[in-house]
Amino acid sequence: MDNVLEINPHDCTATVQPGVRNIAISEQAAAYGLYFAPDPSSQIACSIGGNFAENSGGLHCLKYGLTINNVLSAKVVLAHGEQIEIGQKCMQQNGYDLLAMLIGSEGLLGVVTEITVKLIPRAFVEKVILAGFSSVTEAADCVGAIISHGLIPAGLEMMDKAVINVVEDYVPCGYPRDAAAMIICEVDGCEEEAQEQVDWIQKIMYQHRATSLKVSQNDAERQQMWLGRKSAFPATGLTSPDYYCLDGTIPRRHIGKVLERIQELSNHYGLRVVNVFHAGDGNLHPLILYDESVPGELESCEELGGEILQACVQVGGTISGEHGIGLEKIDQMCYQFSAVELAQFRTLKQAFDPLNIMNPEKHIPTLHRCAEFGAMHVHRHGKQHKHADIPRF
Ligand SMILES: Cc1cc2nc3c(=O)[nH]c(=O)nc-3n(C[C@H](O)[C@H](O)[C@H](O)COP(=O)(O)OP(=O)(O)OC[C@H]3O[C@@H](n4cnc5c(N)ncnc54)[C@H](O)[C@@H]3O)c2cc1C
Repeated sequence: MDNVLEINPHDCTATVQPGVRNIAISEQAAAYGLYFAPDPSSQIACSIGGNFAENSGGLHCLKYGLTINNVLSAKVVLAHGEQIEIGQKCMQQNGYDLLAMLIGSEGLLGVVTEITVKLIPRAFVEKVILAGFSSVTEAADCVGAIISHGLIPAGLEMMDKAVINVVEDYVPCGYPRDAAAMIICEVDGCEEEAQEQVDWIQKIMYQHRATSLKVSQNDAERQQMWLGRKSAFPATGLTSPDYYCLDGTIPRRHIGKVLERIQELSNHYGLRVVNVFHAGDGNLHPLILYDESVPGELESCEELGGEILQACVQVGGTISGEHGIGLEKIDQMCYQFSAVELAQFRTLKQAFDPLNIMNPEKHIPTLHRCAEFGAMHVHRHGKQHKHADIPRF
């Protein structure tokens, strides 16, 4: 099931089978000057079926939305074998929004067999601004300031010093090695519009004490500036026997505070944590570096990861922005959701999949499991786990 069935330049849509790779949609749409906006860093390998199931995001989702904002309709096979078509190929739809419900449901409610996505016209000009800062807090505050000035860049990413340096060792991109944090910001539009955004953003960056600043002068330079960001995970992987990538998402205004908390937790557990993330979306990607061959290190890493996600929930965030819950974060759902909310999730799962045959290993935690998890948390940390009960830091 990996065929592009139709590219429709008039409606600006593509109809594809679920096994089509994300990047293949944009490659085929390029002939019409169109592309599919959600662009996970894994886009050369990941499938649109996986993007649908995880509600994936990417570098350009700040301006153009997540998968949920870019899918018009889908064919889905239900647990008893019937096929339904959800959503519409036009703007308006009636009835319950089943499409929104299934996007991000991680394959728990049905198997997607065909997807129609929106395509958007490629902007005339795209420019990248790279800026270094002498503190993570200044960079984080700058991210909020750019957006509160009414500017929505096409991409707004951040990296800390550790990642800047491993990336530069792996694929030199001209990143500022001496900066404590760096912002990569992309703007797009027609020439005048893009330049006006560059001018505003440079001004804001200097107001936030940027220590270095460069603007791409052509498309090759722009691609090179992105290459480092896109290589950040494999580059980090070369520096540690193992790493664990988290995906908590928080309101943007708390980025500085949560990164400080992550540093405190990293010191406490004695495990290094490095950060490269979708700052504009508040979607953090702390990478915990550990060595599974060292007894106890995997367990410490998992505990540290749990505490980081809890820190995200405490400021009004979520335990996953785009990678999903999967198997590994089932317990952490107990932080984020109340008993009543979890019961509603179970009712929904039961309605779609009464025999529990859709991704049966993944599930919604029972109250019993949450209670056990809570008891373990109290034992380890001497405090309750439910986010309402956790004192704010
Ligand atoms: C290096 C790296 C970088 C990444 N960067 C990003 C990023 O920037 N943004 C982001 O959002 N994610 C990112 N991810 C996570 C991941 O790539 C995405 O979540 C992606 O959408 C998963 O797609 P996949 O094809 O790999 O799905 P899989 O891992 O194969 O499947 C994911 C889930 O989708 C379900 N599923 C797959 N197909 C269907 C279908 N047809 N019907 C129903 N359920 C289905 C599966 O059962 C499974 O539960 C990254 C991952 C890596 C390894």
